[in-house]
Amino acid sequence: MLEELKARVLRANLELVEHGLVLFTWGNVSAFEKRRGYVVIKPSGVPYEKLTAEDMVVVDLMGNVVEGRLRPSSDTPTHIEFYKAFPELGGVTHTHSTYATAWAQAGRSIPFYGTTHADYFYGDIPCARVLTHEEIAGDYEKNTGLAAIEKFREGGLDPLAVPGVLARSHGVFAFGKDAEESVYHATVIEEVAKMAYLTEQLNPTVVRADRAILEKHYLRKHGKNAYYGQK
Ligand SMILES: [Zn+2]
Repeated sequence: MLEELKARVLRANLELVEHGLVLFTWGNVSAFEKRRGYVVIKPSGVPYEKLTAEDMVVVDLMGNVVEGRLRPSSDTPTHIEFYKAFPELGGVTHTHSTYATAWAQAGRSIPFYGTTHADYFYGDIPCARVLTHEEIAGDYEKNTGLAAIEKFREGGLDPLAVPGVLARSHGVFAFGKDAEESVYHATVIEEVAKMAYLTEQLNPTVVRADRAILEKHYLRKHGKNAYYGQK
């Protein structure tokens, strides 16, 4: 079932290693098959160099394994909450990439400081709130997703215009219209996180770049009047 999508999800997971976003078995990528409502995700705890397409696990939106001989990633309930809340998503990537995770651990959203950020994110990259003890003791992975979703609802954020979020004290969840795009956004988040960190080192009193720059850079690449790139 979903052989082609499994092969794509495998490749997307391997890209995390190629882009230097994961160590060991940290991190995972999933894709959502909208027609049947199935999620294809990396199995739990298998080293990247040993992963095959057949190892990818198919689960439904209740978290039941539909196909696969291995257990799905332990973060699967977080991915599922994102697909349930944001049906426009076709891919989710989770990493503990260094700079972005440093912002998550500091409990800070990544402020918009320049055009690299604005080319992909229409505003700050949000950091979700701390989980309560009940949320940690309960369905922890599911609650990790719900706290992130809450941040998007509160801010009226569109997960395709702000395609990623920092899970507080944890790491990154990046979004895309497919698995490949979510990996791309996870890579951009790490780079932007690094630039923002260095920006604050060089100028501790720096403020966000002009809103007009955000509008210009985001909207020339996205939206109905986009003109960046080839037709
Ligand atoms: Zn994690």
